[in-house]
Amino acid sequence: MAETKNYEVVIVGGGPAGLACGQYSARAGRKTVILEELAPGGQTMIIDEIENYPGLGKVSGYEIGAKFEEQAVGFGCEIVYGGVNSITRLPDGTFSLDTTDGTFLSPVVVIATGAKHRSLDVPGEKEMIGHGVSYCATCDGPFFRGRKILVCGGGDSACQEAMFLRKLSDDVTVTHRRDRFRAQASIVKAMLDSGIKTLMNKTVESINEKNGKVGSVTFRDKETGELTTEDFDGVFIFVGNVPQTALVPDCEKDEAGFIRTDAHMMTSIPGIFAAGDVRDTPFRQVVTAAADGAVAAHYASEYIDALNGMKY
Ligand code: NAP
Repeated sequence: MAETKNYEVVIVGGGPAGLACGQYSARAGRKTVILEELAPGGQTMIIDEIENYPGLGKVSGYEIGAKFEEQAVGFGCEIVYGGVNSITRLPDGTFSLDTTDGTFLSPVVVIATGAKHRSLDVPGEKEMIGHGVSYCATCDGPFFRGRKILVCGGGDSACQEAMFLRKLSDDVTVTHRRDRFRAQASIVKAMLDSGIKTLMNKTVESINEKNGKVGSVTFRDKETGELTTEDFDGVFIFVGNVPQTALVPDCEKDEAGFIRTDAHMMTSIPGIFAAGDVRDTPFRQVVTAAADGAVAAHYASEYIDALNGMKY
């Protein structure tokens, strides 16, 4: 029979929010575990370079993830690798998590599951994943060294990842559905200065196959409706993220599906906190995710004190 383990704080997700939460919680003396499906670091693991995390200068996403993990574990936070199947609220208000590693019981659950890439949902996209369509420049960019690359999206990710790809190819184009980028002005300027071309006000209509790989992309002009097709070898898609909230279907969410929290990171369900990209925050950065994690850990600890005072 699978083992049942008791913790004071169970954190689901080992990205910057989850690892920072684990560090603060364990340091505060709480018996804490992070349940992580893949590898600690979350989305940072696929970022080539992070230059805006205070105090660290320029570091790779992998490096920052490893530093977060080392510090959390150093304070006594446990990390268990495996998937969470479900979270159930028990009659006494505590939680039972059914996982691939047995059952975890805890009065507090912190949801730090982040967000996953959104798809364009156009013909040819799904079919050509791994054959020229990618959502990770660091992972797949080297396969397109010296080739003709298209990046889709207008946010920080599209512009920043395009600059990484520009190091590998002289022929990088970013296409966006509007005439203005959403990305921070400094990032847009650096991207334009690096010699990246832009195709604005266009929607991608289809990604077209040639000899089993991406061969071209068809665009529709938003103003004229005109269709044009241009040859590309690789298409990198960065059109935002979808929050990973399936484990907590009953938590209150915003219109886009991100979990609503109060200033203490508490969700609409007492004892469930949320931190990082999964919650309704206006500015998603590694530093803000880490800060969310610290806030969640602090108030989770206060919540446990209150429960103990009430002799739950
Ligand atoms: P984002 O800011 O949500 O931007 C998504 C972009 O994709 C937008 O330009 C959006 O267009 C476009 N888009 C969305 N759906 C589309 C569709 N179906 N077809 C075509 N285009 C579509 O996402 P992100 O760039 O991944 O960034 C996510 C968060 O991480 C943001 O908070 C960002 O600031 C942060 N981030 C920060 C850094 C950094 O500071 N260095 C780096 C990466 C990410 P519209 O503009 O028309 O909506």
